[in-house]
Amino acid sequence: MKIWRGTWVERDGMLWSPLLGALGLVAGFTTRAQGSLAGSRHQLEEQARNRTAVARTLGFPGIARVKQAHGKDVVRLDGPAEPWPTADALWTDRRGVLLAVAAADCVPVLVADPEGPIGAAHAGWQGTTLRVAEALVEAMVTGGAARERLVASLGPAIGPCCYAIDMERAAIVNERIGEGCLRKVNDRIVMDLWAANTAQLRSVGVTRIEMSGVCTLSGGADLWSYRGRGPDGVYGTQLGFIGRPA
Ligand SMILES: [Zn+2]
Repeated sequence: MKIWRGTWVERDGMLWSPLLGALGLVAGFTTRAQGSLAGSRHQLEEQARNRTAVARTLGFPGIARVKQAHGKDVVRLDGPAEPWPTADALWTDRRGVLLAVAAADCVPVLVADPEGPIGAAHAGWQGTTLRVAEALVEAMVTGGAARERLVASLGPAIGPCCYAIDMERAAIVNERIGEGCLRKVNDRIVMDLWAANTAQLRSVGVTRIEMSGVCTLSGGADLWSYRGRGPDGVYGTQLGFIGRPA
């Protein structure tokens, strides 16, 4: 078991996973510098343009996306599909396909078999308690990934530094996945989404895991945070992405 913490780096206005990058993958997280890439109903055209620009910057013809529903469904996508299938995780075994999940506090979970399939999951508190990261790994293994080779990187998300949840939500989390990811800090309960997803990845046999350590609310990077949205409710969304160049 090997865990790398706080490793992600900022370069050219994006955040990057060194662990996945060392495997020849293009894997990281956009920032506000690329504009909002999803999440606002009021900027659909602008967001589509921004996604096209990001794909071009990253050297891919387009971005394979899903309509996220805070669930645990996994789809195989070997390129962009219209309409986007409803799911919270996607994978492919093709080169030249850029997979992405939208997030602005939820965890982008990026998984790769260095010699096989790659995948991404969107895991907020709901997806985490439904074990979407586990579902992604099992789908990838069924699709030909070697479990013992899998490497995972957890991108920027709202960290345990900021993610206080109420008693009602804490009770649901405890009932579904136990209290291992919950901590009492003064009179608040905080949830550690990175720890919860790391535990799930370990439970399905992933032994090399990287945690970005970047909090979307307080981490100092120029990111949107749903919890940190302004009084007008307007916010944007980044993309966590992973692709193997053609
Ligand atoms: Zn924080």
